[in-house]
Amino acid sequence: MDIQQTLFTQIMQLVQSSSRISIVTHINPDGDAIGSSLAWAGVLRQLNKTVTVITPNNCPDNLQWMQGYSEILKFDTQKQEVLDCLLHTELFFCLDFNNLSRLEELGESILKSTAPHVLIDHHPNPECFAKVAISVTEASSTSELVYHTIIGCGYEQYLNTQIAESLYTGIITDTGGLSHNSGRPELYHIIAHLLQKGINKTAIHDIIFNVFSYDRMKLLGTILKDNFVFMPEYKTAYMYITIENQKLHNFQLGDSEGFVNYPLAIKDVVFCALFTEYENNTTKVSFRSKRQFPANEFSAKYFNGGGHLNAAGGRRACSLHDAINAFENGLHSFKELLLKS
Ligand code: 5GP
Ligand code: MN
Repeated sequence: MDIQQTLFTQIMQLVQSSSRISIVTHINPDGDAIGSSLAWAGVLRQLNKTVTVITPNNCPDNLQWMQGYSEILKFDTQKQEVLDCLLHTELFFCLDFNNLSRLEELGESILKSTAPHVLIDHHPNPECFAKVAISVTEASSTSELVYHTIIGCGYEQYLNTQIAESLYTGIITDTGGLSHNSGRPELYHIIAHLLQKGINKTAIHDIIFNVFSYDRMKLLGTILKDNFVFMPEYKTAYMYITIENQKLHNFQLGDSEGFVNYPLAIKDVVFCALFTEYENNTTKVSFRSKRQFPANEFSAKYFNGGGHLNAAGGRRACSLHDAINAFENGLHSFKELLLKS
């Protein structure tokens, strides 16, 4: 991967001259957000830095086994502790997002600090707020970029089993278990190195992917049976989760993780969406696509969102019904692109 050595040198210098470092990642943190943040925290702590990982809110249960999870500060429930920590922060690492809006309210608090920011991320179109940026769209995950940063900065001696486990988790969660965004041979050299560090690949896949509760499985059944619409004329399918569905199936954070991928298993689907209804008249949408159809452009245009070419998300302040209408209208303008994708 082509990352200039000068970027690593700048990061090393910033790390050397700071003793209190905060690592921040995006709202509703996923395996890559948590995995990359905890891995990098694990390295910096071995350099005797005081490191705090800050997230806007908590992550799903299946990520809470990673080393360092219990010390994460969550802005929604530990606001005062986070604000105190920000006051003393000398250096920020911003991992797995490139736009401060992805931090929601936490973003404003971070901007009040004068400490420099280092961005490590793989999303397209970075906002310019960082002093140093490792921003590589071709990377499978931010965890892959943190691996390169560890090696590039000469910190390989600190890459222990726990750090390797966190990095591997980030890589497999952002690639759907190495099914997409994971075709570069170099990635498998990295994975080989992580395996040499003693990670248990089978156990990690099991902890990450085989974690459905009975309620969650029944929710998936309900959605596939009753809330699933196929529109072959647009090579598109969508699903939705109502508040009523959530109540009926005792919905917990992370319960719909991965549901959005199911419609892609239909041969003729190139684009799909999952709508989730919220109490405050907001609808969150996740998008997935195949080949060259730009899910991120669609999301930016109709749902104030963004993300990657094949995996994007956004939200709209409207009812579920209106969000679905906006989506169907959007399909019409993207029809030509959908049919040739
Ligand atoms: P997911 O569907 O798993 O929530 O998100 C898929 C991808 O879309 C992630 O890479 C994430 O960064 C991006 N994404 C999800 N929600 C939003 C959003 O509200 N705004 C932006 N800009 N990106 C999003
Ligand atoms: Mn990521």
